[in-house]
Formats: sequence, C-alpha cells, structure tokens
Amino acid sequence: MKYLNEFRNPEIAKKYLDKIHKITTKEWNIMEICGGQTHSIMKYGIQEMLPKKVNLVHGPGCPVCVTPLEQLDKAISIASRSDVIFTSFGDMLRVPGSEKDLLSVKAEGGDVRVVYSPLGAVQIAQENPDKEIVFFAVGFETTAPGNAMAVHQAKKRGLKNFSVLVSHVLVPPAVEVILSSPINKVQGFLAAGHVCTVMGYQEYIPIAEKYKVPFIVTGFEPIDIIEGIYQCVKQLEEGKSEVVNQYSRSVSAKGNNNAQNIVTEVFDTKPRKWRGIGEIPGSGFGLTKQYSDFDAETKFGVEEYKAEEPAECIAGLVLQGVNKPNECPAFGKSCTPEHPLGATMVSTEGACSAYYRYRNIKTS
Ligand code: SF4
Repeated sequence: MKYLNEFRNPEIAKKYLDKIHKITTKEWNIMEICGGQTHSIMKYGIQEMLPKKVNLVHGPGCPVCVTPLEQLDKAISIASRSDVIFTSFGDMLRVPGSEKDLLSVKAEGGDVRVVYSPLGAVQIAQENPDKEIVFFAVGFETTAPGNAMAVHQAKKRGLKNFSVLVSHVLVPPAVEVILSSPINKVQGFLAAGHVCTVMGYQEYIPIAEKYKVPFIVTGFEPIDIIEGIYQCVKQLEEGKSEVVNQYSRSVSAKGNNNAQNIVTEVFDTKPRKWRGIGEIPGSGFGLTKQYSDFDAETKFGVEEYKAEEPAECIAGLVLQGVNKPNECPAFGKSCTPEHPLGATMVSTEGACSAYYRYRNIKTS
C-alpha cells in the first residue's frame, strides 16, 4: 500500500538498526510519549531489535489512561440520569470508575451511545430536543480541535441541550513533570507526531534546552520509530539536545493554525489532574467563559467529585517511565484486559495492554 509499505520496509529498518548498533556506546533511556508509538514498538518487536543499552520506556500519551478516576465517576453519574443521552468514543466505555464503568450503566438501561465524531453528538442533540446530550470530551491536543468545533457548532445552532464533560490534557507540561522528577531516568523523547501536527513542535524547544534532552518528532510506523530512535541515540552520543522533526510528511514547526484557532476560541488552559500522576498546573483545557454554558460539570453539579486510585495499580509510575508494566505485581494476574484494574490495561494504546497483547511475558 503506497505511503504505508515504505514505512514498514524491513531493509530500511535494518539499515537504521545497523546504524543504531554501530553508534551506541552507553546506556540510554528513551521515552516514546504516545500510546500509539508504544503499540507499534510492541507489535513490531522494536525493543528486541535494539542494542541492549538502548532502553525504551513508555510515556503518558494515552488519553484513556490518564483520564482521572473522578472524571469517570462524573461521567457515570451523569450517564445514569434518565433525562440524559451520554455520548463518548467507544474506548471510554470499559474504563473502570470507582464502582462500575459506562458499559454497566448502559447494561442497566442508561442511554449511553458510542459516537465516531463529536459532531455526531451535536446531531443527536438536534434530533432529541427533550433530552440532555452530553459528550465526553477526552484526549490530548489531537482531539481538542474536533471537540472544540462541536461546542462551537452547538452554540451556533442555538442548542441548549448539549454539553461536554471536558477531560483534555496537554503533553508538554506532563513532559516537564517527568523531567523534573527526582526519580526520572528519561534522557531523550520520541514526541507524538499527531499532537505536533496540530500544535507544531516549537513548545519542545525551550524544554529541550532547559533539561538538555533531545526530542524527535516521529510517526507511528516502524520506520518512523526506528529512524527516530537512531536520531535520538545519535544526539545523545554526541551530547546534543535538539528538537528534530522526523515526521515532516505531516508536521510543521508551527502546526495547524486553523485547528489552534478553534481550540483557543473554545478552550483555555487550566490545571488538570492526570490519573496516577496527580494535578499538573496548566496541563489541560477547560471551556472559556464564552462557552461556559456548555460545561456538563456545572450543569449536572458534579464538579466536586473526588476518588482514590486502586492501591494495587502502579500505572502512575508506568506512565512516567519509572516502571514497566510487567513489573507491576498485578500484571496478568489480578489485572488483565478482561478484568482491568487500571486504565493502562483497558485502552489498546495503554502500555499494560500492549505488553499483555504482544509480549510473551512470564508473570509468575
Ligand atoms: S498491570 Fe494493571 S494494575 Fe498494574 S499498572 Fe497496569 S493497569 Fe495498573
């Protein structure tokens, strides 16, 4: 398939792998930020093809995984109301809240619907004027433009029965938290190509300079990732800390202006809690004053919900690259994709799920 096979070409992969083996002299810990990259690394066995000294650790870039427990409890509470049609992308339905998940609410008779676009939720609102329609607006910078556009459209159409439960998070503040942690071991990053397609990569330049770490913007195919690892190891070996764009077929330095404009109109930056990590200042989006009528939290009075993570789950450490999923005592035992304890086992982009799915790891 054109534009795909060339990024899965084994000969090209071998050339980059040979180069990585040739230049590696020291131990390096490189974090791929995005769960989509983690998925590819596990699927194609990329870690196993690298020199033993190059260690890939898995970052917080899975939106389902970092959505905090209380946000799920808020969603479940709203979805349980008889006057509400609750809409969401499908991957949020099985993420456990404190007591149950959205799929259980649906099984108990709640009107919980999977939509494939936030504008689909706006359409449902238009067709059901006697119901309240709530969309679970989850994700990173990548999904923010589409979600912002849905709110913008709802306002433009005069819909009073549409609102969004916002749980948007931003990558650069989380990267800074990882780098400034006393237990940090990450020395270089593969930045997520889709986030940079929207936002550009300029935000990473001051972080690279401040913490002396290279960032390589990569895509999600094996050649993207292997080439990104080569560029990262090369900089580390040469003592450099620059931002390099491997994914130039999609990413520009400044990103997508139109997407950024709609995001800025509808959302502004707020502190956000990350599952397993805690609150990070300026790390998320909330609705601007102009769009505050569309805030489901205030509409349904769930702003003050709080919840504690299950004590067994070390997802916070997995998401910061401190531990690998198979180092969790619950991995593959009390926590499996069928019976997940934490969100990193639920989402197909979650590191625990990727390890469970693609690795023959002994757990006993
Ligand atoms: S294996 Fe399960 S319990 Fe352990 S960190 Fe992953 S999601 Fe949490």
